[in-house]
Amino acid sequence: MSGIKLTGVSKSFGAVKVIHDVDIEIEQGEFAVFVGPSGCGKSTLLRMIAGLEETTGGEISIDAEDVTHREASKRGVAMVFQSYALYPHLSVFDNMAFSLSIARRPKAEIEKKVRAAAEILRLSDYLAHKPSQLSGGQRQRVAIGRAIVREPRVFLFDEPLSNLDAELRVKMRMEIARLHRQIGATMVYVTHDQVEAMTLADKIVVLKGGVVQQVGAPLELYRNPDNMFVAGFIGSPG
Ligand code: ADP
Ligand code: MG
Repeated sequence: MSGIKLTGVSKSFGAVKVIHDVDIEIEQGEFAVFVGPSGCGKSTLLRMIAGLEETTGGEISIDAEDVTHREASKRGVAMVFQSYALYPHLSVFDNMAFSLSIARRPKAEIEKKVRAAAEILRLSDYLAHKPSQLSGGQRQRVAIGRAIVREPRVFLFDEPLSNLDAELRVKMRMEIARLHRQIGATMVYVTHDQVEAMTLADKIVVLKGGVVQQVGAPLELYRNPDNMFVAGFIGSPG
């Protein structure tokens, strides 16, 4: 199967098990959202897919390749961080080019990829700017641009909008939906915000205490929640 497959995935920190036997299948090109209250294991699960956190049980495959113990840089995934992770002293161009420069990619290739990403993100006129000269939304788009230039097969987002004000959050949510339609890559998005999950997801994974409560399309979960927790979290009020 292409896409992402988690089979019996568990995670313990020392003696404390925080992720319990998780099975999830995400189709290639799908937009999956992990949602649940703070501390339920969303980031840990995402970081295991990214290869930033060791998996202590089970298997993770991406495009039918077992990547469970593969190092992060060889998984073909890119994580989008909150915009404050930008380098303040570097231009927009250099921020976006950073990972390619580190990898010593040819200059012409870097130029081409950064310009293409800037085009997608409508940042072409801002490549010489420093992050401090940009609006919050533009800064967040630069953070996304840093992932795009790496041409990952999977984009991973960990609450990328949680630092933005409500109005900007709605705008950026639409930007991310547009990006997904435009480039069609598999995306996994973590949030504790039910509205964000409902509006962005093809597939929602509801987590509680490191255990998957239900997986389904937004309307499915809304209309037919499997349990009281899912009902309370995203189910219909009636
Ligand atoms: P979420 O992203 O849903 O808020 P996390 O994945 O960050 O949840 O955390 C899940 C659980 O794992 C929490 O109980 C948290 O305290 C614990 N945890 C996360 N990272 C570590 C760590 N490095 N060491 C020990 N416990 C951790
Ligand atoms: Mg988290």
